[in-house]
Amino acid sequence: MLPRAKIREVLTILQNHYGSTTTALRYNNLFQLLVATILSAQSTDKQVNKITADLFDEYPDAESFLKLSENELEKRIKSIGLYKNKAKNILKAADKLVNDFGGKVPDSREKLMELPGVGRKTANVVLSIGFRQDAIAVDTHVFRVSNRIGLAEADTPKKTEEQLMKNIPRFHWSNAHHWLIWHGRQVCKASRPLCSECPLKHYCLYYQELKPSS
Ligand code: SF4
Repeated sequence: MLPRAKIREVLTILQNHYGSTTTALRYNNLFQLLVATILSAQSTDKQVNKITADLFDEYPDAESFLKLSENELEKRIKSIGLYKNKAKNILKAADKLVNDFGGKVPDSREKLMELPGVGRKTANVVLSIGFRQDAIAVDTHVFRVSNRIGLAEADTPKKTEEQLMKNIPRFHWSNAHHWLIWHGRQVCKASRPLCSECPLKHYCLYYQELKPSS
């Protein structure tokens, strides 16, 4: 893992590159953010935005989602990975929100994780983006990029999150989540990271290990 001083320098570089980025998911309320986040697992934000544009116009909140049958929702989201499970979970979550939470998306991780289809990562995204709470959601990009650079050295998302919370100042948690996602999408790609054009290559432990000796 990188020493604390180097981690600060890495964060400064990421901040300079990505600034105050936020999610690319489109939503108008917390319920829509929750649904879009559930849909985004193993899919792209672009693909999610494509299907939610009309869906959210017609069914803007948890109550209106309950008018949809599972079959109807499946048809609306079938271009998304794992659509059958997602349709089932979203309708169950909408039902629980309406019947147990007064139709409102809760602002605590524990309560969010009581909703079907909502794991720790999804809960952290909703807390961080929707409620502006300090949280680091570890998705596939955050996990890969932070472990490659040396911001964490962990073999699970949960351990990665714990280490990132220790290594990154709290006021940067939510931003760092977005910086690492954008860096993972644009530069530190899964199978072919673009190390030669990466501004972090002089820090990155993965690069230092793999770079050709000169
Ligand atoms: S140097 Fe390569 S592996 Fe390291 S963060 Fe940059 S792109 Fe990713």
